[in-house]
Amino acid sequence: MNEKRTIKVALLGAGSVGSQVARLLLEQADEYERRVGTRLELIGISVRNVDGRRDVELPRELYTTDAERLILSADVVIELMGGLHPALELITLALESGADVVTANKALLAHHGAELFELAERVGAQLYYEAAVGGAIPIIRPLRENLGGDRVERILGIVNGTTNYILDRMHTRGDSFEESLRIATDLGYAEADPTADIEGYDAQQKAAILASIAFHTSVPVDEVHREGITSVSIEQIEDAKRAGFVVKLLAICERVAAPGDGPDRVSARVYPALVPEAHPLASVHGGNNAIFVEAEAAGSLMFYGAGAGGVETASAVLGDLVAAARRHLLGGPGLGESMDADLPVLGVAEIDTSYQISLEAEDEAGILAGIAQTFAEHGVSVATLEQAAPATDEDGEVAEDARATLVIGTHRAKEGSLSKLVDALAQSPAVHRVNGVLRVEGANA
Ligand code: NAP
Repeated sequence: MNEKRTIKVALLGAGSVGSQVARLLLEQADEYERRVGTRLELIGISVRNVDGRRDVELPRELYTTDAERLILSADVVIELMGGLHPALELITLALESGADVVTANKALLAHHGAELFELAERVGAQLYYEAAVGGAIPIIRPLRENLGGDRVERILGIVNGTTNYILDRMHTRGDSFEESLRIATDLGYAEADPTADIEGYDAQQKAAILASIAFHTSVPVDEVHREGITSVSIEQIEDAKRAGFVVKLLAICERVAAPGDGPDRVSARVYPALVPEAHPLASVHGGNNAIFVEAEAAGSLMFYGAGAGGVETASAVLGDLVAAARRHLLGGPGLGESMDADLPVLGVAEIDTSYQISLEAEDEAGILAGIAQTFAEHGVSVATLEQAAPATDEDGEVAEDARATLVIGTHRAKEGSLSKLVDALAQSPAVHRVNGVLRVEGANA
């Protein structure tokens, strides 16, 4: 009788995600066997310390510190160690040995994705990475497969749960950035060192991955403009609220038509932006993620859910494992990435969008005309102007030296023109201080 062969699965890492992957793989082995048509056998788990404390109790004999040996016995390797090294070398070894690889490692893909995809294609293996962006949310497969016959125009993504939690708390509770970060840390939404999240590095890596798949071109991570949320003030959040906006840290990937017959260009950037209250992204609260995709034929789609968490992310990893196991049974070459469109990546100065500028001006006659003149000189036209009520003392009297707080919305303008305008405003004797500038995104969705 023909004995059914098993698919041998090696797991690299047993942290938040890896331990949940191992648990589900062991607990639901019979279910997976029915689904895939063959047994998925977890042959070992590579860690740094086999006696380390784990979230989940797993058979001790599965642990090893010899990752290379484990990889060479596997049909599918799941990399959940994180970091660039030795993940890069181990994934390379796995692909070269003919194994398919599943990874959640956005940092590695953002920095070395192109070479790993090229290697996978060359050896006929496949690299799966659904969990690298948006945790449990299906977004990689929808972009590369379901929308593979459409033309993606724009992606606006809330792809970092920590920053969404912080900004949401500032918006809904009125807490400062520092207080919101402290609470996010206490609740486990932020790591002890939150730099990668609050400075936008995590979202930058995810933007590079999303833009590359969506536009079928390689977008290097260092060409993704990045700004974090550390300078977003509670005053900006309040100004935004008054004007009908919500502040969100967005990963923005955009196809930009070239003048004439030239090839399209692409832009990928990360910054805190104003999103209209009516936009679906404005109602993404707490630590959730959402990716809003605009495609030529499909129109607008939104993918929403848990962007992180051990067990949630394990769902995406296991979905990839099932796909890899099915492919392994069928045989044949892997499904290559189509990233050879070779589209130029635009710098942020060449992007145009609209803005809200909040500034304090002297409260004197003729000041507005002077400010309007500065806008005109820089080719930026004013769309809306709102003047906040001046501060009053305990008796309700406006102080003699009170300044007018103006929130000025612009029409679309190039980033380059806008930054020159902001410099000029800051120098202007009419302006006491430029409180902040935020871009507006998603206003025409
Ligand atoms: P984690 O909790 O820090 O766990 C990392 C695991 O990898 C640990 O078991 C560690 O071993 C092992 N490891 C690290 N370096 C190793 C090395 N040099 N050799 C062998 N083993 C090594 O990480 P995680 O949160 O599960 O994240 C794993 C991956 O998933 C990362 O790429 C992350 O970006 C991605 N991801 C995570 C989430 C999430 O919510 N956590 C969401 C989406 C994507 P020891 O236990 O012995 O130290």
